Formats: sequence, C-alpha cells, structure tokens
Amino acid sequence: MNHCWNCKGSFEKASVFCPTCGAICGAYSGDYFELFGLEADVNVDVMALETAYLDLQKKTHPDHFALKSLTEQMQAIEFTALLNLAYETLQSPLKTAVYLLKQQGIDALPERGGDTPPQLMMKSFEMHECLDDIESLEALRAYKKQIEAEEKELIEALAADIRNASFAQAVEKTVELKFMATFFKELRIKQKKLKHA
Ligand SMILES: [Zn+2]
Repeated sequence: MNHCWNCKGSFEKASVFCPTCGAICGAYSGDYFELFGLEADVNVDVMALETAYLDLQKKTHPDHFALKSLTEQMQAIEFTALLNLAYETLQSPLKTAVYLLKQQGIDALPERGGDTPPQLMMKSFEMHECLDDIESLEALRAYKKQIEAEEKELIEALAADIRNASFAQAVEKTVELKFMATFFKELRIKQKKLKHA
C-alpha cells in the first residue's frame, strides 16, 4: 500500500501522482517496467520506452513545481532522479538483465567479480587475436558487424533464459554480455588508431 505524503491518503497501485490529490510522489513504489508501462523483458520496446520517458519527463519536470511547496519541489527532484535512472537502465540490455536478475535476488555482476568461465576465457582470447590481426578499417568494420550480430543473438538468448527462469544460464550470458561491451570499447580504440594511421 502506498501513502501520499501530501493528503495522507493511501492507494494500492504504484503511481507517480497521488490518485486523490494529484501530488507528485518522489518515491515511486513500482518497478522500472511498470513506470513506463512496459513488459518486463531484456528486449525492451525501445520506441515505447522513449515515448513514455519523454511523456513522464514533461509531466514531472522540476520547473513545473517552482511555485509549489518546497516539499513538493523536493519530491519532483527525487522523482526525476528515479526516472533518469530507470530510463538509463532500460536503454541498456545489459543493465536491464542485471536489474531483472536483481529482482530475483541474484547479483549477476558482483563487484568483486567472479572467476571468468573457461569458455569465455577462450572466446576472449580468440576475439582479441582476431582484433590484433586486423590491419584495415574495412576489415575492422566487417568484424564489428559480425560481433554486433553475435551480441544481438546473445541478448535474444539471455532474454529467453530470463523468461524461462533459467537464471544460472542468464547470469553466464550477462557476464558474457558485459565482456562484449568491454570488447566494443577496444574495437573503437583500434578503429581510431586505424583512422589516424
Ligand atoms: Zn495525495
């Protein structure tokens, strides 16, 4: 049950605005998917996310609350922080996967970092070797396309694992997806080097 800080009324369903008095509730109690009216999935409907985000941003912009009480202004600022974090999370399949797994009580990417699985070590070694061998921008672009396709497949498989509650496999794929994100950074560094060669 949610309680409005302003009118003290209670309401069951998580809501950005109090259904009774309309005050903004900074500490929105629903999850990120509910906030944007999206299905809880790694594969987020990007267009729907964008539309819902812009709509909420417009309705809750702190400027609208400039003439309201200080408390309401603070609530608006609190909500804006939550809104931006939710948007940033759902824009990234990696962050979305980590978020969905966290909802299951699973820390997919513990700060200490787990041991890299042997299979991923092998893959990493092969990918770095491929990258090292590339000598032209053209070859790099082609390789990048290939890796992007692999990443897309991985995201699809990860989404399916979470849908099927195969969480152990989902964690493995999340670790792999994070590795790929790092690899893309290395790819871009190499791209810059080749451009300026
Ligand atoms: Zn209220």
